[in-house]
Amino acid sequence: MAGPPIKETQAVVRLWADWFRGAEPGEIGEGLSQLRESGIDPFEAVFAEGVRRFEKSGAYVADGALGIVPWLRSNCKLSGGAAAERVGGARQLEHLPETHKAFARGELGYQHVAVLARTAEHVGVAAVQKAEASLLQAAETMDPGQFTGVAKNFEHRVDAAAALAEANRAHERRSLHVSEPSDGLVRLDGLLDVEGGAILRTALDARMLPGKDDDRTPGQRRADALVDLCRRKTGDGAGWPPHLIIRASVETLLGAAGAPAGELEAGGSLPAETVRRLACDTALTRITGRGELEAEISHASRNIPPSTRRAVAARDRHCVAGSCDRPPQWTDVHHLQHWAQGGPTKLPNLVLLCRRHHRMVHEGGWGLRRGEPGRWELVPPVKLVPAHARSA
Ligand SMILES: [Zn+2]
Ligand SMILES: [Zn+2]
Repeated sequence: MAGPPIKETQAVVRLWADWFRGAEPGEIGEGLSQLRESGIDPFEAVFAEGVRRFEKSGAYVADGALGIVPWLRSNCKLSGGAAAERVGGARQLEHLPETHKAFARGELGYQHVAVLARTAEHVGVAAVQKAEASLLQAAETMDPGQFTGVAKNFEHRVDAAAALAEANRAHERRSLHVSEPSDGLVRLDGLLDVEGGAILRTALDARMLPGKDDDRTPGQRRADALVDLCRRKTGDGAGWPPHLIIRASVETLLGAAGAPAGELEAGGSLPAETVRRLACDTALTRITGRGELEAEISHASRNIPPSTRRAVAARDRHCVAGSCDRPPQWTDVHHLQHWAQGGPTKLPNLVLLCRRHHRMVHEGGWGLRRGEPGRWELVPPVKLVPAHARSA
């Protein structure tokens, strides 16, 4: 037999490429769905057929491959996972002729077939054969995510013990890795089982609603929600932050030019203004120098006693920056004049700022100007012109 019909295949690919180039925008959508239905998915079905014959023949050993999966990896530009998924699918399709036909006709997408093949692997192909018609019907009307739910349900009905074993295997794979700080960031990587994932998602969703004029991305809001949760769990429950311990010199705390960075005892360094913000509300710095900053400007004055905190919250009721309405549990107490500069920890020198606005005022360089009663206007930072950019 002559070699594979490469010329014809390439001609079809060119046909489609030309068609997309010339298509009206209104026609492209139809073209995309047709390309999958009558091209890509049936081709995957054909590929599966070929893979199955090739595996059975064992001819891949002639290329020095140890198995069909390694062969696919090195000859078909597939990752190990993608290759194994195709081999698994090809094996199961042999025993699921109706599924294979629907796949070849483009009625079933590749991902649906992969889900069905995994189900057959988990509960045995015989059980899937018995329910093939109804599973196919579900697959044809659902997206792969929804169909995965149906397939899992089916697995449970057929073999609850196997479903439990699979869930237990998944549970064993749970892990969370928190990296050392690098470039000012700490990376999180992890896997949670379905229950843990649902608990996390529910907890984050409840805390990531955007506030007024909130320009954070969903990812940023989710990250803030996670940190906020931990802050409250490790704090005293009333919004008092957990005991982060920071080492900082007097110069850092005063924001003097040339001062060293602050150091987190848990690892990582912090810019001076971040040290000043954290020290603004919380009792967590270990100060070095100038009589330990006159014994922390007489310890009593820099700790915010719970009664003072309650009084500030009762007076301000929410973050006072702009029109912000974040409630007290999402705020810090900000010293208008920093305590390190002698600002008293007394009601007239304290205001509630949500964490975003507190950060804007410290790290962002924004100013606060008294507005309507109980409100402070945000004053944009004066642009700092770097020395080298200044004209002589
Ligand atoms: Zn502050
Ligand atoms: Zn605010």
